[in-house]
This record gives sequence, C-alpha cells and structure tokens, in this order.
Amino acid sequence: MQPFAYHRPDDAGSAIDAARSKSAQNGPPAQAPGQFISGGTNMSDYMKLNVMQPEVLVDINRLADPRYREIRADERGLRFGALVRMSQAEDHPVVKSQYPVIYDTLHLAATRQIRNMASLGGNPLQRTRCEYFRETSWPCNKRNPGSGCSAMNGLNRQHAVLGTSEQCIAAYPGDFAQALIALDATVEIMGPNGARTIAFSELHRLPADTPNIETVLEPGELITFIDVPAGPWTRRSRYIKVRDRQSYQFALTSAAVAIDLDGKAVRDVRIALGGVATVPWRARDAEAVLKGKALDESTAMEAANVAFSTAQTREHNAFKVPIGKQTLVRALLEAKLMEA
Ligand code: SF4
Repeated sequence: MQPFAYHRPDDAGSAIDAARSKSAQNGPPAQAPGQFISGGTNMSDYMKLNVMQPEVLVDINRLADPRYREIRADERGLRFGALVRMSQAEDHPVVKSQYPVIYDTLHLAATRQIRNMASLGGNPLQRTRCEYFRETSWPCNKRNPGSGCSAMNGLNRQHAVLGTSEQCIAAYPGDFAQALIALDATVEIMGPNGARTIAFSELHRLPADTPNIETVLEPGELITFIDVPAGPWTRRSRYIKVRDRQSYQFALTSAAVAIDLDGKAVRDVRIALGGVATVPWRARDAEAVLKGKALDESTAMEAANVAFSTAQTREHNAFKVPIGKQTLVRALLEAKLMEA
C-alpha cells in the first residue's frame, strides 16, 4: 500500500475541499487521487491491492450533519442519508414492509459484518470484481487506459453480456443499485460548485472507450442523499439473486422488479438486471412488453427474451443469457403473488 494523507473533517464543504486539495489534483487522471472513504469495504481492498492509490483519503464518518445518518420514510418515499449503513436500512421496518425489493438487495449482499460497515452512499460506487482489474500485472483498460482488456479473450465467466464495449466487459457487481434504478431513485450530490440532483439511472457511465470513467461524478463530488419515490409498485417488488454459493457472493444474474397490477393486467412494471451488465441495467424494452398484459409464465418469458435480445456473449459467459432470463421470469412471477 502506498503512503497517503488522511483527513477526517466534520463538514461536507471541508471534505470536498480536502478531496480536491492541491496535492490531490496532481495525480494520474485514471485514478482520482483524492478519494472519500466511509465504510471502506471496497476502497481498503483496492488500496491493499494497489489497484487504487489515493494520495488523499477523506474520511467522511465524522460529518456532523445528522441527516447523513438518517432514514426518512413518509408519504413522499424514502430518503437515505449517505452515511446510513446497509444493515441499518435492512432493519428499517418501512423498508422491509413497503419496499421489499430494497430489503432483498441489502439482505442478500455480502455478509452482515460487511453490511454493518458499508454505507449507502458508497455502495453504488463499488467497482468491478473483474480479476484482471484486481491483479495489477495484467493489462486492463479500466485500471490502465489503453493497455488492453485481458478478459476479452481470457477467463470471462463472470463478465457482462449487456452494455459491453470493445474496451471493457466487466460486470457491475452491486445489488442495491438494481433496486434504486428500478424504483426511479434520485441522487443528491454535493460538490465544489454546490448541490445537484440527478436520476440514479444517470449516475453510471457505460464503458464505451473510457471504462476508467465509471460515473458522472466530478472530482470532489460527494453523494449526500439517495431518494426513492413512493409509488403503487413498491410493495409488490422482489429481487432474485443467482450466485455460485448461497452467501457472501456476487450475482451471476439477478433481477429487481416492481409491479402495479390492475386486476390481472400489468398497469406498470419496473425491471432491472444485475450480474449481466456493465452498469446497473434498467430493461425498459422488457417493461413495455408487459404493460397492459396479464402477467404469466408466457408473457414473463416474452419480456425476458426482449431484455436479453442485445446480449453479446463471450467464450465462458453465454450461460448467463438463459439463466438471466429464468431469473427475471421467477422475479416477476414471485412479485405477482405478493400483497399490494
Ligand atoms: Fe479491465 Fe474491463 Fe477488461 Fe476487466 S473487462 S480486464 S476491468 S478492461
């Protein structure tokens, strides 16, 4: 691990200034040299592996504003402060009863010990588990732009089939993000130029020619709140996660769904796919297939076929397409049976 400066400010403005401090601006562009840390469950891994080498680490755990640690639940929806821990949200009675898809994504992630540490603001920013990204002796466009992609013709069983590019096929690893993108969450961001709010669906960038730039966050910008709007679809919602083992493992395929039914017909449906795409993946074309129709195994599979119609498979990951479809079908049919 490389030496780094450590700051622990008590207000967001100072944290942002520290992340953009002069020394922090002189680092290589591919690896932002000023980084925030909260739970540290991802950052500390990458620092130990020398995948990330921040010059300045800004610990935001002591920010004084209590709202950053609170969950607000009311008729407008949910507001999560960025420092809320995953386990804190998982244990919240309104999250569990009114937004089960969020509960599922939290409960099925990592381990309880990790969820006690990891923050909701940091969780969506976790980086890929592509082994070539984590092992610095291999070429990797995400870690070292222009060096090549070792996974393209290497071991790519874990890799994405949707949203890939010729430069990178790494899968986005998170679960919580699938619930957020399905439920039309927004993200409040504070930065050197003040606060701004964006749709969660705009936060992550497809790899295209610059897989090293993973989000639209500018240097020194900090996620402060995540808002999830209320809606008639949130109670009938489900997340299914398929993985190599039943605990402490990333998704091979996953599906987050939320449904509003009008009798037997689908009035509204939201679908997100995990484990199969380079970013949190909203399957809007698949949603369109279901709207106005009765939801059954046949229409669910019709939607699943559309969801994966643009999949590009590699030597070892073609199995993700049929399993991904079945994951989505199961999520839809299980959600249909839930109480609204
Ligand atoms: Fe690097 Fe992406 Fe290729 Fe993995 S898939 S080796 S992260 S460029």
